[in-house]
Amino acid sequence: MNNFIPVNTPLLSGNEKKYLNECIDTSWISSEGPFVKQFEDMLAKEVNQKYGIACSNGTAALEIAIRALNIGKNDEVIMPSHTIISCAQAIIKNGATPVLVDSDINTWNMDVSQIESKITKNTKAIMVVHLYGFPLEMDEILRLKKKYNLYIIEDTAQMLGQTYKGIACGSFGDISTFSFYPNKLITTGEGGMCVTSDKVLAEKCKSLRNLCFGEKRFIHEELGWNYRMTNIQAALGVAQLEKLAFHVKIKREIGSMYQELLGNNSHFTLAEEKTDDSENIYWIVGLLLNKNSKYTVENIMKELGKLGIGTRPFFYPMHLQPVFLDMNLFEGEEYPVAEELYNRGFYIPSGLGISDDDIRKVSKTINNFFK
Ligand SMILES: *Cc1c(COP(=O)(O)O)cnc(C)c1O
Repeated sequence: MNNFIPVNTPLLSGNEKKYLNECIDTSWISSEGPFVKQFEDMLAKEVNQKYGIACSNGTAALEIAIRALNIGKNDEVIMPSHTIISCAQAIIKNGATPVLVDSDINTWNMDVSQIESKITKNTKAIMVVHLYGFPLEMDEILRLKKKYNLYIIEDTAQMLGQTYKGIACGSFGDISTFSFYPNKLITTGEGGMCVTSDKVLAEKCKSLRNLCFGEKRFIHEELGWNYRMTNIQAALGVAQLEKLAFHVKIKREIGSMYQELLGNNSHFTLAEEKTDDSENIYWIVGLLLNKNSKYTVENIMKELGKLGIGTRPFFYPMHLQPVFLDMNLFEGEEYPVAEELYNRGFYIPSGLGISDDDIRKVSKTINNFFK
């Protein structure tokens, strides 16, 4: 379809071409190239951490983080049911157990007030996953961290450039992780990173990323992965990171435009523009259908698709995933808000590359649809 408006279009408006040409002109294309270190240092600094360890994607970053913290058999990690599978699988593939928490229908994030009741003597960490537009309520999480001596793994994939009470998201984790998939605040095509301020953890992450090569080449004490990032990806990353403030500004402009054009539609709600702690960064612009809507997310997405508008559903809860039920995980557990978010939520074209005209067209089509 010619005029189809995809759910995401990235924005490559800075030095991307220049730095990619440098990779080719210098023949530095592998992970040994200079952009990797530069990108790591820049991103770590951006979120007030000391060390960055770039890797192949955000899923890999989470796996590395869990392993580096030595979380494994008999250990529990608290995380939301409503999130991407990467979070749960990083825990499970390292031999530990995810313990789920329901969501908050207003912020679409993990309901922080339910975390404490899930803490046991086996709990090692809280996986903080900031979703859609707002950060989690970090004051409460930091209180729990201190009280129960827990690690924080901060999945900042959707929240680079966001702050909580003025403090950068990504600065709260013992290890914080990022994804640079094309729908994130900055992109490297595929890519990810762990950041930390602990030197020992940083060395551990680096080793895990690179097959745990020992002091003596080809002699290994442990198993890791080849999750290295290439210089080509990092070249994109540096160019994108130079534009982060601009990207954040654009995201908020996209959000305000949709608020203005769709905010009065009585068939669904948008997320709020701000809370006391932060301003929505609109990783995506999501629509939550009214509770007793005569429409279903599935039929709306199908109809909007026919009208040339790309959409995507919200995450499917972890406690309903067939793969985990087969593993006898989460049997009989109930997280009604996580289910509601999946049943009532979807998102509309809101990538950094979208034009104002397309935002107007999407809004008009949606408003007409609900007439
Ligand atoms: C995108 C995303 C990931 C996974 O990142 P990939 O780079 O796609 O592997 C993990 N967590 C969250 C919250 C994400 O949005």
